[in-house]
Amino acid sequence: MKFGGTSVESADAIERVARIVTSRLKRSPVVVVSAMARVTDQLVAMGNIAAGGDCDAAIKLLQSLRERHFQTAIELLGTKRGATLAPKLEKHFSELENFLRGLAAVRELTPRGTDYLLSFGELISSIMVADAFAVRGLNAAWVDSRQCLITDATHTRAVPQMEQTRERCKKKIVPLVSKKRVAVMGGFIAATAAGVPTTLGRGGSDYSAAIIGAALDADCIEIWTDVEGMMTTDPRLCPDARTIKRISFNEAAELAYFGAKVLHPATLLPAIHQNIPVYVLNSRNLKSTGTQITAQAPPSQDVFRAITAKNGISIVNVVASRGVMVHGFLRSVFEALDRHSSPVDIVAISEVSMSFTMETKRLAKALLSELEQIADVACEDRQAIICLVGEDIHGKPGIAASVFNIIANAGVNIRMISQGASEINISFVVQESDVPKAVRHLHAHFFPAKSNVVLAQKKNGVVGRRPNGTGTRAVRSRSAAAGAAASLELRASRGYERTRD
Ligand code: ASP
Ligand code: MG
Repeated sequence: MKFGGTSVESADAIERVARIVTSRLKRSPVVVVSAMARVTDQLVAMGNIAAGGDCDAAIKLLQSLRERHFQTAIELLGTKRGATLAPKLEKHFSELENFLRGLAAVRELTPRGTDYLLSFGELISSIMVADAFAVRGLNAAWVDSRQCLITDATHTRAVPQMEQTRERCKKKIVPLVSKKRVAVMGGFIAATAAGVPTTLGRGGSDYSAAIIGAALDADCIEIWTDVEGMMTTDPRLCPDARTIKRISFNEAAELAYFGAKVLHPATLLPAIHQNIPVYVLNSRNLKSTGTQITAQAPPSQDVFRAITAKNGISIVNVVASRGVMVHGFLRSVFEALDRHSSPVDIVAISEVSMSFTMETKRLAKALLSELEQIADVACEDRQAIICLVGEDIHGKPGIAASVFNIIANAGVNIRMISQGASEINISFVVQESDVPKAVRHLHAHFFPAKSNVVLAQKKNGVVGRRPNGTGTRAVRSRSAAAGAAASLELRASRGYERTRD
């Protein structure tokens, strides 16, 4: 069970977490928590200020962090027990203070130093949550993630070493679980085999939960957050949006990539490799069943699983200058894209021209000037990619026609179209300003009221709990899982940024 920053942001929130974990005791939970909301950002700020030489300003920020934690500890534990926790927390705060003073002296914050600095957020939150659990009658045990989750030394985005992590978890966590104790540990933070602190990259607590879940061969991985799971579309764009009950790994990965902000796509990797179902649940609404992500999802009455929109896209039109050989032209364009490691989303090609889309913020000036050497180049900003995802569209005629009819009836002009590359999505480009209109029309048509009903449970699919790790796994899941894993690995390596808890 992983609880994000907003789920542990205050005494009330931690209180709720304790109740949720208590309700799951029979299933032997292991708990992974993020730093309290905003803490990691504050640690980053402190580090930068200290490394810039302003030690006093950094220490002042530290002081407010300290007060927030002590205050929460007292609210959670009462003055008496809070007083016994205080020295445990203070040990870390004074280490952090020493580190900030050191930074101000040497005026340099290295990636290795950054990992050490950021580790305090999750160390402190997890220690506090473990104590809060104990006071509420849970047989909790704090576990140091740095002794369980082993990574390489790529600081600030370290890569987990599964074999070593598995061994460590067997040694440190399994004995606790068998004694019916609830292990509580910080997400996001890890260490090299030699014990040097590392982190998995911002937003990495989900990833930690999946890694630990996979290492323990868990029955399921629960990601508790502050929204109702994954939604059929962004509720800010379309108030009729609702929770997706079941979704496949492939579809979830596609959604994450095309703008859904709930899960870090790389999060799913360890779960995909081991076919462990992942749930996204709301810690503020225990009645909601959230979203279940499995290797295969049962077919639903809806054609699509969800609609996403990604703003901030540029279309780049590249037309070969006269006299340029046709085959040489395409090769040169792709080589230029490659040299600049340009993450292209959608591509359309004709003999002597090519259009592609890219996030505007990643479109390098140097790339454009290089392309201008061989072609006429025109860029259009403020575009958006709308993407409809669903595995069931495969082999069904007429779906693209209805999508584009709806868009036409909404009076929206389509700039580029792509279908087929991933086989489970139809995506197209429109002007940013047309996004709300287009999404609302599509959603009204493809998700009429009372849809989203699961039609049938697949016999071999992973549904809920798997008895003692020996149950039947989805038969066809291997290749689907492998495909999703490959595309996720690629996309994760392209530097996906997650923007919410
Ligand atoms: N606390 C870390 C961050 O803010 C990790 C996480 O929340 O998942 O990036
Ligand atoms: Mg977070």
